[in-house]
Amino acid sequence: MPELPEVETTCRGIAPFVTGKVISEVIVREHRMRQPIPPQLPRILTGQSVYAVTRRAKYLLLQMDHGHLLLHLGMSGSLRIIDKETPPQRHDHVDIVFDEIALRLRDPRRFGMVLWMEIPPLQHPLLRKLGPEPLGDDFSGEYLYRKSIRRSVAIKQFIMNSHIVVGVGNIYASEALFRAGIRPTRAAGRISEKRYVRLAEAIRSVLDEAIRQGGTTLRDFQQQDGRPGYFAQQLEVYGRQGEPCPACGSPIKAVTIGQRSSFFCTKCQR
Ligand SMILES: [Zn+2]
Repeated sequence: MPELPEVETTCRGIAPFVTGKVISEVIVREHRMRQPIPPQLPRILTGQSVYAVTRRAKYLLLQMDHGHLLLHLGMSGSLRIIDKETPPQRHDHVDIVFDEIALRLRDPRRFGMVLWMEIPPLQHPLLRKLGPEPLGDDFSGEYLYRKSIRRSVAIKQFIMNSHIVVGVGNIYASEALFRAGIRPTRAAGRISEKRYVRLAEAIRSVLDEAIRQGGTTLRDFQQQDGRPGYFAQQLEVYGRQGEPCPACGSPIKAVTIGQRSSFFCTKCQR
């Protein structure tokens, strides 16, 4: 599933190609996405300029003359910049064409979203109640601590809750908790502010490293195949059940929290 770093990489990857460009054509080959793509979308978008490409949580926002186009990659979506004559393949559902190039959405599982919004995007119900960006100024250990008071939910679920903070997926939550030395099952309300400061730093650093690694694959946005900007980060605990902890050597354990696999070291994480 595309996580925040992939979406950020996608945002940075497509922005230079579409910013300042006028949409000449929109081709929708499949309307049935998580929400149906409205049949009037091509008519609405054609002729509009793209002023900026931004990201909020895992949503991409293309700012245009009369509103915003919201894109979400769902479980399996990817966006590429292609020559507009490139023949579509089976799961290439939408092309947004700018003269010679097109922004092409591929999404085999069709959980993605393509939505036109005329209200300010941050007021839309999908975005209105989201917590702060983990890489933004509103996110800190002090903030997490304040939100955690009297919360008995496991810390891993707490940081994966998008009302608390957006974009901390399963893998990144496991890795950040390892770096911060916090056991994923610990109750959120039973962690000191000092430890939350470490955790907030760990969340920032795992995401930041992933984005920087993604940056090295930006040229893939112009390639014919392959998923853009997706990258394998060096993972210290995730998926490493039974392997030695990179810090102390004891075997990594796995536990299921909220139906998601979590990995941790019983010695290093308390
Ligand atoms: Zn350890």
